[in-house]
Amino acid sequence: MSDCLFCKIIEGSIPSDKVYEDNTVYAFKDIHPKAPTHVLVIPKTHIPTLADAQDPTMLGELMLKVNHVANDVLNLEAGYRVVINVREGGGQEVFHLHAHILGGKKLPF
Ligand code: 5GP
Ligand code: ZN
Repeated sequence: MSDCLFCKIIEGSIPSDKVYEDNTVYAFKDIHPKAPTHVLVIPKTHIPTLADAQDPTMLGELMLKVNHVANDVLNLEAGYRVVINVREGGGQEVFHLHAHILGGKKLPF
């Protein structure tokens, strides 16, 4: 998607602070962190929202990669939170599916 911010981050035409990449996902630091550690994990395929996701393999991969990044890259052994905002009502601002990883402190509800 040529007009998608996160597709541009994946292709490298917009810079990002990458923490992990493989054949299916790309993970980078959120530009406005809401916790000491705040990373976004995005599928390399353009899917606008979780509500548009149809592929159980892609969704399963995304969740397993979230756990891999949190544990093995970010070292969040104490735990972390995963947030997926869905559409405007859920607070989604960038319409390329992404999971927020938040951690590095005890998170309030
Ligand atoms: P959403 O509200 O869509 O769930 O989350 C979008 C997230 O993307 C926000 O937390 C916002 O700070 C982050 N963000 C928006 N633009 C950029 C950018 O250009 N670079 C990075 N690294 N993060 C961004
Ligand atoms: Zn995209």
